[in-house]
Amino acid sequence: MALRVTLIPGDGIGPELADATRRVLDASGVAFEWEVVDAGEAVMAEYGTPLPDHVLDSVRRNRVALKGPITTPIGEGFRSVNVTLRQALGLYANVRPVRSIKGLETRYDDVDLVIVRENTEDLYAGIEHMVGPDAAESIKIITRAASERIARYAFEYALANGRHTVTAVHKANIMKLSDGLFLESCRTVAAAYDGRIQFEDRIVDNMCMQLVQKPELYDVLVLPNLYGDIVSDLAAGLVGGLGVVPGANIGTDAAVFEPVHGSAPKYAGQNKANPTAMILSGALMLRHLGYPDAAQRVEDATRDVIAEGRATTYDLGGPAGTSQFGDAIIDRLAAGADAALAPATTV
Ligand code: NAD
Repeated sequence: MALRVTLIPGDGIGPELADATRRVLDASGVAFEWEVVDAGEAVMAEYGTPLPDHVLDSVRRNRVALKGPITTPIGEGFRSVNVTLRQALGLYANVRPVRSIKGLETRYDDVDLVIVRENTEDLYAGIEHMVGPDAAESIKIITRAASERIARYAFEYALANGRHTVTAVHKANIMKLSDGLFLESCRTVAAAYDGRIQFEDRIVDNMCMQLVQKPELYDVLVLPNLYGDIVSDLAAGLVGGLGVVPGANIGTDAAVFEPVHGSAPKYAGQNKANPTAMILSGALMLRHLGYPDAAQRVEDATRDVIAEGRATTYDLGGPAGTSQFGDAIIDRLAAGADAALAPATTV
């Protein structure tokens, strides 16, 4: 039976990436039925909101979505669709595996981090106002419930995926109450995993320096929303940039998979952007849906095409467009399937 999945192509480079990703996932050996729904500025005129109810209903019904990036107007206009979607669906954990890719020239070749970012509160709660004409106030919300929930997610992820250490990242030396509560919550949860998963903490500024200097020392990081947003882009930079890092937003009732990067409007419609992050997000989705073998095939085929370097996009130094990159991955998947079907030869 086909897997019914909501597909939100997004805007900017989103639709091109979504097209390549959908074709790759359709070639993975798993049958999908895509329910395509649009969100963002393009639907504002028709529905009066960038996130119409039928989009949320579709994700609630299918319990899983693959999403392209969506533009958020800066300093004015509607609230981020991405943030609203995460809050409306209770997608409390943002998970970003960051792994070195063979063939991509970067400063390090042994990065293997997982960033677990709290996705619902902190300064992203969207509570801000002007205080008179010349001052603005944004309120940072940290609760024990959300902090313990994300910490438990990080430890459970570590256990399930053979990881050894969870590092909590904070600024509790300055924000003694809010970040202090986050750290205290992580410590409380850590105690229940004592002897199975190690626990340590780092102040966020020091963490950034450590990641730039010795990323191989770190394993699973758990962070409040804002630090998680910033540190995950830093980590993406360690392995080749935003174009190659996938992401997952996990809740108790639904999950939305999306690349880490934004809509890169300047490249929209040019068949230029790198589809890797969205394709690897699709592989994370396959794992989430219980198809680890198909997920592995997609990841291997994508990594092989990158390692070969002949059909990659401009940002990886290659000559290909978005769709040609996707085609090369599909060819690779087909070659793998043919090899698996070929009779064994005896010598
Ligand atoms: P961005 O990630 O869109 O682009 C930054 C730069 O990274 C681009 O100019 C490009 O050089 C490079 N880049 C990003 N993705 C790439 C890809 N797939 N292939 C090749 N190069 C790529 O970040 P931004 O310019 O800060 O944001 C643009 C818009 O995207 C904003 O409106 C922002 O709010 C939105 N955004 C959306 C999401 C999301 O939908 N989850 C995430 C981040 C930003």
